[in-house]
Amino acid sequence: MLWMNVDKPTKRCTLHLSQCRFVKGKKETTYKGDGEIKRDGGWLSFQSLEGAVEHYESRYSNYDLINCSCS
Ligand SMILES: [Zn+2]
Repeated sequence: MLWMNVDKPTKRCTLHLSQCRFVKGKKETTYKGDGEIKRDGGWLSFQSLEGAVEHYESRYSNYDLINCSCS
């Protein structure tokens, strides 16, 4: 499994592996969701890189797609 951090204020989607320290440290806030997208974005999980890229291209193609150093 992998995770994508969708950050609307900076227009960035960052891909992480499940074991990344940023994934372990993520937490839901008022404006940032965990498993859902809120006002400022959120963390979404995907079974495959293909699925994550497909979601990125369909919803956030105007954002930057970044690979965390963990991936
Ligand atoms: Zn990472």
